[in-house]
Amino acid sequence: MGTATIMDLLKRRPLNACCFPRTPRDRITFLIFLGGGPFLIWYELFHVRPRIDHDPDLLWHHLVATAFIFVGVYTNLYKMVSTDISTGFLSKRDVGDKSKPGDRYCDICKRRTPVRTHHCKLCNVCILKRDHHCWFAGYCVGYGNQRYYVMAIAYCWIAGFYAQAYYIEFVKAVLGSSLWQLGSLLAPHVPFMLGYYTAYEFVIAALTSIGIFLQIVLTWLLQIQLVQIVGGQTRHERAKNITKYNLGLVANVREVFGDRWYLVWLSAFIPSRLPGDGVHFVEAEKTKIK
Ligand SMILES: [Zn+2]
Ligand SMILES: [Zn+2]
Repeated sequence: MGTATIMDLLKRRPLNACCFPRTPRDRITFLIFLGGGPFLIWYELFHVRPRIDHDPDLLWHHLVATAFIFVGVYTNLYKMVSTDISTGFLSKRDVGDKSKPGDRYCDICKRRTPVRTHHCKLCNVCILKRDHHCWFAGYCVGYGNQRYYVMAIAYCWIAGFYAQAYYIEFVKAVLGSSLWQLGSLLAPHVPFMLGYYTAYEFVIAALTSIGIFLQIVLTWLLQIQLVQIVGGQTRHERAKNITKYNLGLVANVREVFGDRWYLVWLSAFIPSRLPGDGVHFVEAEKTKIK
């Protein structure tokens, strides 16, 4: 019997046994994401704020808004990575007993898999209604945790706009507000190498550029999710133009956000029961025939 290393044991553990990502790449992006929020708050409060002329009476409003967004991002992230979305808890009875021709089977997990389930090589398990593997969470998005993923990126998106609006005056004061200077945010290293920016100005310009780039990425990710939710599709189904699970807008929204879909933005800890079980799915055509 060979000796199992710690890495082997980590890879073999059940998906919900630990929130920490499994691969080195996921760990790096996860740690960047974990540290990004606190860094942004420190930057806004202790570097930007003292240098701009903000109304001191608005400080409490700013602190409450920042805390709400911060809690929204990280509680949804926590719920996302601590929800078991693998097929590990399913018994043979859940997915059917004996194999029949045409049944879906995972060669890696060596077991039958429900419809819409796909294997994730990074999570090393089959994921119910798999959407995609999120680098920043180091975890898959699937049946049961998509709500948390969508809310986490929605809060990040709001945080991005809030931060940009908060310190735009600061950026203009440091870098100037001419068209040339604002255009230099597209490639801040160029004016730095040409000697137009000091090291400090370069750091501020680079942070602003990274912020704008992340805002574009978040808008793109959010747009993907909105289109898929409206169409009742996963990323795989959208690519293959599979539309048979599109039950209409309200049913599709409930399928992701649960029966309290209108409250989930408030807190990740508000229970919102999903209509299905992640194994069996209603198909639109069958509903119509009925
Ligand atoms: Zn599998
Ligand atoms: Zn995965």
